This record gives sequence, structure tokens and C-alpha cells, in this order.
Amino acid sequence: GSTSELKQNDLIATTKQTVTYISQRISKGIEVNFTADVDECIINLNASLYSWVIENLMKNATDAMQNKGVLDISIHTKGKFVEILVSDTGSGIPTKLQRKIFEPGFTTKKRGWGLGLSLAKRIIEEYHKGKIFVAKSSKETGTQFKILLKK
Ligand code: ADP
Ligand code: MG
Repeated sequence: GSTSELKQNDLIATTKQTVTYISQRISKGIEVNFTADVDECIINLNASLYSWVIENLMKNATDAMQNKGVLDISIHTKGKFVEILVSDTGSGIPTKLQRKIFEPGFTTKKRGWGLGLSLAKRIIEEYHKGKIFVAKSSKETGTQFKILLKK
């Protein structure tokens, strides 16, 4: 389809659409916020794959919050890059696992496949030539994932 390729797409509209879609399908105890510092940001993007990444980050966040908390998605333009932050108030990720979680098959869940983040990394880094990593995480404040994409 028209979204299954790398082409000029509006990152803001694409993200907002995915956030709206997912927020209607997760626990009512989770507050979802979306903000962006610009109204439009046209970049080379495979909208379907990118949306899948956001969906997976939001689902992981939901799992980490156990039906209660705050999930913030925000977009910040930074010179040649645009930054997408996905932050939760969940259980956090121990420092020594923050790289391991991107390996295929790594999961801490009873019914997890451990494939979400490894595919997310391939989509963002190999396909879009961007970056995805844990920006910060603690037991007390939760986790923040950061995606960097080229403008
Ligand atoms: P799965 O969701 O099937 O476990 P993922 O690749 O999506 O596989 O995630 C791998 C692991 O990373 C999870 O099992 C969990 O331990 C950890 N993780 C991912 N996102 C978060 C998060 N937002 N908060 C806490 N832990 C997380
Ligand atoms: Mg997952």
C-alpha cells in the first residue's frame, strides 16, 4: 500500500493517529498524553512500520504500568533530527538489562516473545537510519525510550 515504503510523510499526523488508536484500546487507568513542538514535520518515513514501533513501545509501557499510570508521547525537533519520546510511569528497566532488551527473544514476561524491541531497532536503525534507545529508566520514575530520526 501507499504507506508501506520509505517516503515523505508527516511524522506528527502519523504519530498522533497511532497514539489515538492505541489509547482507545488500553486500560482506562492509564492517562495518555501527546505533544509536539511543531504542527507538521515531513520526513522520509515508512508510516506503517513506524506506527508499528510506536504501538509496541506503548504496549510495553502499558505492561510495565499494570493498568495504572501516565504514558507521554512527545515530539521535539532538534536541528537535523527529530526526537520522539515515549515515557511511562511503570516499573523501570534495570541498567544492566537496558541493552539486552533489544536482543531478539529477550523477555521478562510469562507470555512474551521478546521480539518487539528487536524488530523496533531494525526498523528504526537499519531501515530509517535512526536511533532507538532507553534514554532513562528507574524503578521510581519509570522508563523513557528515545527515537531519533533524520529530518
Ligand atoms: P516482550 O514485550 O514480548 O517481552 P519486547 O522486545 O517488546 O518483548 O520487550 C523486551 C523486554 O523489555 C520486556 O519483556 C521487558 O522486560 C522490557 N521492557 C520493554 N519496555 C519496557 C518498559 N516500558 N518498561 C519496563 N520494561 C520494559
Ligand atoms: Mg513487547
